[in-house]
Amino acid sequence: MRIGYGWDLHRLEEGRRLLLGGIEIPFSKGELGHSDGDVVLHALMDAILGAAALTDIGDLFPDNDPVWKDADSSSLTVEVVRRATSIGFRPHNVDVTIVLQAPRVAPYRERIRSKIASLTGLGVDRVGVKAKTSEGLGDIGAGSAVACHAVVLMEETVK
Ligand code: MG
Repeated sequence: MRIGYGWDLHRLEEGRRLLLGGIEIPFSKGELGHSDGDVVLHALMDAILGAAALTDIGDLFPDNDPVWKDADSSSLTVEVVRRATSIGFRPHNVDVTIVLQAPRVAPYRERIRSKIASLTGLGVDRVGVKAKTSEGLGDIGAGSAVACHAVVLMEETVK
């Protein structure tokens, strides 16, 4: 088994889509980013890459490369899982914590879990999605940013 951890943060601005784990959530603001800004999938990808010691998403999908402008993070996640699998590591379970002042994530939790499960090839029962506020403190508390922490366990498939 290998463990990987990822973290990401994006500014929230009006006129952008709010994507969390590949699910678009109706809200007045969304993540600013070179890609689609999906903070959950970015943290998850870094966790998977970390477990497989495959550098990070900034290295694989540089934000100064026009190829990745508005990139679909769901597709990037599938690619990251493919790369990890190709060197002998497949996801065993995933746990993410979203830190967001508003809107409430709970109504979308099951859709996010299902989406992450399909992107990683896991059963939904192996995908944990938690959300919390930052108690009104800091940039996240002011509604100017969203962050996500992700932990993944990876099974070694070849010895
Ligand atoms: Mg990011």
